[in-house]
Amino acid sequence: MKIVTVIGARPQFIKAAVVSRAIAQHPDMQEIIVHTGQHFDENMSDIFFEEMQIPKPDYNLHINGLGHGAMTGQMLEKIEAVLLEEKPDWVLVYGDTNSTLAGALAACKLHINVAHVEAGLRSFNTNMPEEINRILTDRISNLLLCPTETAIRNLEQEGFGNFGCKVENIGDVMQDAALFYAPRAKRPAQAVPEDFILCTVHRAENTDDNRKLQNLFGALEQISAQTTVVLPLHPRTRKKLESAHYDFGNSRICFIEPVGYLEMVWLLSHCRMVMTDSGGLQKEAYFFKKFCLTLREETEWVELVENGVNRLVGTDRDTITAAAAQCLAQPANMTENQLYGNGHAGEKVVEMVYNYRKS
Ligand code: UDP
Repeated sequence: MKIVTVIGARPQFIKAAVVSRAIAQHPDMQEIIVHTGQHFDENMSDIFFEEMQIPKPDYNLHINGLGHGAMTGQMLEKIEAVLLEEKPDWVLVYGDTNSTLAGALAACKLHINVAHVEAGLRSFNTNMPEEINRILTDRISNLLLCPTETAIRNLEQEGFGNFGCKVENIGDVMQDAALFYAPRAKRPAQAVPEDFILCTVHRAENTDDNRKLQNLFGALEQISAQTTVVLPLHPRTRKKLESAHYDFGNSRICFIEPVGYLEMVWLLSHCRMVMTDSGGLQKEAYFFKKFCLTLREETEWVELVENGVNRLVGTDRDTITAAAAQCLAQPANMTENQLYGNGHAGEKVVEMVYNYRKS
C-alpha cells in the first residue's frame, strides 16, 4: 500500500513524525513524503526532520510567502502532479493549514482516498483561515481520524453520518509525540531563566491586528516584571513586531528563536505555566501538567477548559495580567492525563488506513 503524506508546517512535522514511525514499521506500507515548503527555515522545518527522525521528504515543492489563494492554488497544482506520478492508494493530511486543504483536494479530484488526521475540530470562528481548511478537508476525506469525542460530536452535528465517510476517535498523535520525546528533552542552547512562563504567539487573528498585538505584548511585558516570559518568536510575529517598531532592546520578555521539539519539551517540563494562542501548545501544557492561559476568545480544545486546566483570556491586557497573577499565586490542581488517548494514536492511524473498507 502506497501512502503520500502531505505536510508543510511545523505542527504537521511533529504529528507526521509519530505516524511516519508507525508506517515504517508496517511491512506492507510505503510512505512518500511531500513537503509543500510552507515553513522552510532551518528552525521551523529542518530541525524537526533531523531531531524527530522524519524521513527526508521525497518532494519539496518550495511554496511559501504567498497569499492564501496563490499558496493553496500552487500547492494544488504541484501536489496533483506528484499524485499523478506516484499513484498512491491514500493521501494522508494533518490539521488545518493550506497544505492540508490542497493535499486533500488534489487527492479527492483524482479519486484517491484521503485520511485526515485531527479531523472534526472546530472553533466555530470562520474568520480563522484554519477553520475553513478544517471544514473543507473533513468534507472531502474518506477517513476522518478524530482526536477527541468533542470532534466526533462536531462531525455528527454537521451531518457527517450521511456522507459515506468513516469517522473514528483514535486519540491525539500529539499525545504520542509528548510521551515518546519527553525522555529525549534537551535544555535549550539559548539562555533561559530558571523560573519562567512559556509563551507563544503566532495566530494571524492576533498578529495581524495591531491593537491586539499591542495589548498582548503590553500584558506580557507587565507579567515579565514579576516572572520572566520566555517566548520563542515565530517569524510571522517577529515581522509584525518589527514593523510596529517594537522596542526589543528594552523588553523584559526573554525572546528566543523558535526551538526544535526536543527543546520545546524541555521548556514545557520546566515552565511555571503556559500562555499561548497555539492549538498544539494548549494540549502540550496539559500533557506536561501546566496550566494554560489561552490568548484567544475560543478554542477547539474545549475539554481543557471544561476540565479547568485552560482558561480563555482573549487579548485584553488587564484580563491577561490579572489571570496570570492569579495563576502564579495559586497554581491550579492539574487533573490526570487522559483526555487525548493513550499514546498509540500513530499506530491507530496506520491500522485504520490499512484496514479501511468503504462503507
Ligand atoms: N513548537 C516548537 N518550537 C517552537 C514553538 C512551538 O517545537 O519554538 C511546537 C509546539 O511544541 C507544538 C507545535 O510546535 O508541538 C505547535 O505549532 P504551532 O503553535 O506553530 O501551530 P498550531 O498548533 O497552533 O497549529
